[in-house]
Amino acid sequence: MRKRALLDKRQGAMISICFVLAIIIFFFIFINQEISYGAEVASVSEEVYSGTETAKKILILNSYHEGFSWTKEQNDSIITEFQEYGSSVYIMNEFIDWKNYPYKENLDYLYEYYSYKYENKDIDIIITTDDIALNFALGHRANIFSDAPIIFSGVNEDGTESITSGFDRLTGVIEVIDPTKTIETALKINPSLKNIYIVFDNSESGLSTGKIVMDKIKKVNPDLNLIPCNNMLYEDLIEQVKVLEEDSIVYITTYFQDVIGRVIDAVYATNEISLNSRVPVYHLYDFGLNNGILGGSLLSGRVQGELASNIAKRVLQGEDIDDIPVVVEDSMITVYDYKQLERFGIPRNLLPEDAEIINKPFSFYEAYRGFVNGVIIAFVILITFVIVLLGYIKKIRKMRRELSENHEELTQTYEELTASDEEIRKQYDEMLIINERIREGEEKLVYLAYHDSLTGILNKYSLLEASDYIFTKEKGKIALFFIDIDNFKYVNDTMGHAFGDQLIIKVCARLSTLLNDNASLYRHSGDEFILILENILGTEEAEEFAQKLLDKFDFGFELQGSFVHVGISIGVAIYPDHGVRIEQLLEYADIAMYHAKDKGKKNYMVYDRAMKQNFAERVNIEKNLHGALDNNEFKVYYQPQFDAKTQKITGLEALLRWESPVLGNVSPLKFIKIAEDIHVIIPIGTWVLQQACSFLSKLHNMGYTDITISVNISIRQLLQIDFCEIVQTTLEEYNLEPEYLELEITESMLIKSFDSIAQSLEKLHSINVRIALDDFGMGYSSLNYLTHLPIDTLKIDKSFIDTIINPFKISLAGQIVKLGKSIGLSVIAEGVEYEEQANYLEEYDCDKIQGFLYSRPIPEDDIIKLLEAEGRSHND
Ligand code: C2E
Ligand code: CA
Ligand code: CA
Repeated sequence: MRKRALLDKRQGAMISICFVLAIIIFFFIFINQEISYGAEVASVSEEVYSGTETAKKILILNSYHEGFSWTKEQNDSIITEFQEYGSSVYIMNEFIDWKNYPYKENLDYLYEYYSYKYENKDIDIIITTDDIALNFALGHRANIFSDAPIIFSGVNEDGTESITSGFDRLTGVIEVIDPTKTIETALKINPSLKNIYIVFDNSESGLSTGKIVMDKIKKVNPDLNLIPCNNMLYEDLIEQVKVLEEDSIVYITTYFQDVIGRVIDAVYATNEISLNSRVPVYHLYDFGLNNGILGGSLLSGRVQGELASNIAKRVLQGEDIDDIPVVVEDSMITVYDYKQLERFGIPRNLLPEDAEIINKPFSFYEAYRGFVNGVIIAFVILITFVIVLLGYIKKIRKMRRELSENHEELTQTYEELTASDEEIRKQYDEMLIINERIREGEEKLVYLAYHDSLTGILNKYSLLEASDYIFTKEKGKIALFFIDIDNFKYVNDTMGHAFGDQLIIKVCARLSTLLNDNASLYRHSGDEFILILENILGTEEAEEFAQKLLDKFDFGFELQGSFVHVGISIGVAIYPDHGVRIEQLLEYADIAMYHAKDKGKKNYMVYDRAMKQNFAERVNIEKNLHGALDNNEFKVYYQPQFDAKTQKITGLEALLRWESPVLGNVSPLKFIKIAEDIHVIIPIGTWVLQQACSFLSKLHNMGYTDITISVNISIRQLLQIDFCEIVQTTLEEYNLEPEYLELEITESMLIKSFDSIAQSLEKLHSINVRIALDDFGMGYSSLNYLTHLPIDTLKIDKSFIDTIINPFKISLAGQIVKLGKSIGLSVIAEGVEYEEQANYLEEYDCDKIQGFLYSRPIPEDDIIKLLEAEGRSHND
């Protein structure tokens, strides 16, 4: 806003300055015009006066009277010329009035008068106008005019010669009479001009003038007819001009009296002649102007006066008058009268170029040419200023607009910059936060990468990373414990993952109680932990530590309101005895751990090379097991079950055989577990069931209709949701009654997933399929199971049967038989190899016997042979 106000002020000042300047210019031009115009007026109207004694005294002695135009012109001109001298020049003026009083008495009287008047006046210069004054001054200057030098004017060549001869201290301006230019113009205006009426009088100067004029006209054109009018009465002259033809003009010269001596007023006469003349009237003297004449190149009294004054000034400045020659300059002015030009229809272009036109109708421009020009110039300047100013204002406005736009833009940019600056700052802050988060994230990631999220202890990767400096010779022997929670899978499956997680945390906590500077714990995966014990002396120390670990699990865990009993199995590998690389050590400890599990869990095993062999075998079996079913590598053998009393075959147990083209005959004890682990047991088990049912169907069809068949079922099969349907479909397929099929499950299965297995068994039982509990007595199964499950048969494990013939052990077999029978179950003994055993069992009223004593597992055909050998046939 302040800037804008400042601009407004500057603009205003600029306009004001220009305006004032224009006005000053205007006034300067105007006043200049006024002054020069006014000066002209003053020159004729003002009288010059000087009264100082020291002033130079100039006497102007005029031949004629004061009001006579010719005299007045010369007189006024002289006075004007000396105006610049102010009071240093004193001018005295005398008029002889010779026109009105051309008598000797007049001169005598004036002599008396001037003698008295100029007796004591020290006249410095005498200026005379026209002939008689020069004559008088020359005659009397010594007596009455202080013998002053004389400067004459208004005297023609002839006159000068006759008057001034013999005088000195005298000079002046000769009145050069020359009609040439006038006549040439007249001829131009009217080429048919023939007659020129020359008007002059018979006075001495009149005749002289007339003669000079006519001589000079003759020189212009000798053919022109010149008519002198000096011998005419004034009245005749007037009558004459009234009747002049077109080829004539009148030329008035010195005319102050007519032929009879009557004094004629020259101005009046000029007027009357012009008024009456039918043709243009020209004149010799400028006083004819404004009195009806057309004009001409006129002798000017003013010019005569000026020239005479100039000589006087030179004399006043001290120049010797005798050194100043007589001036013979043309003192004419060319002037024509507009009115007369109009009257005779004369175009202006016929006039000489320097001709001045008077009496033109008033033209403001002509009259005030300078003023008008001044005004125009001032106006143009003003307009120019205004235009320049407007341009300047426009420029300023544009600049201001641009400034304001720029300012706005700048403001906007500034705001944007501020905004983006803030934004950047904000983004920077955000970036810092993000950076912090990334850093935290990285830390977390690093932490997560090396820690187990569930337990918070170090993980497998941490172990792998750290192994390089853990397993160094300086640290002596190091034991690596591969710890696995027993039956964790079972717990996890039955109790849920959350429960499993809690169990892992508890196990971890319990393991951690044994940690110290030498012992560190890592979670390997799932329910597996790795414990590193550094600086041990040997394997014994490792074994002691393993036992300590096992002991930690003698007590159960309180978990979500339940009390759980879990054990761990531990595999141990020793650095550097078994290996130096972490990968090796882990592998060996893992193998050892498997062996510990095989050994019956809650155990530790230290790795040895044989284990690796077993492990390799297991890997080999696993590899070959995958395609075995499709390749028809399996067969089902049947082992007969005998009635203890009748010794006759009542049933058959289906036992799977694998003849691998790579591995040879592989025991089910070896491959069944692996098949379970790699889940191929399900299709294999189904296949066995089909084979068994098919064979039984065949036997039934052969007439052995009371024969039953027992099929071993894996826990994995039982946990199949559609297992019961498969069984049912298979029975229907072979048209078998369900009570002829007995499914053998092991005790250990029940421990693992009791509820779901119980459900499955109920379902099978509901369709009348019989259930046998295999290997009974091996595990820790309570008899509670038996009462709560739909079990039909108890199959006493071989280990009990073996004790029957061991003299150092008291066999429990009989008691088990009793127990089974007491709760209404059928009891079968397996692994019976000896007669004694059979007898013992018979004694205890065991229902059935199965074992090598009677028959090994044999192919279908052999069973049929056996049945036939028993003497039974389908005819029985
Ligand atoms: P198991 O069910 O306890 O089967 C009885 C095992 O004892 C059989 O070994 C059999 O040949 C053997 N045996 C029978 N009588 C005597 C004897 O007097 N003395 C000795 N020393 N052994 C005897 P096998 O056929 O090698 O089977 C081993 C185990 O493999 C079976 O034990 C069973 O648990 C499993 N098995 C076999 N076939 C199948 C099958 O089709 N499905 C499932 N799930 N498991 C099967
Ligand atoms: Ca069995
Ligand atoms: Ca068994």
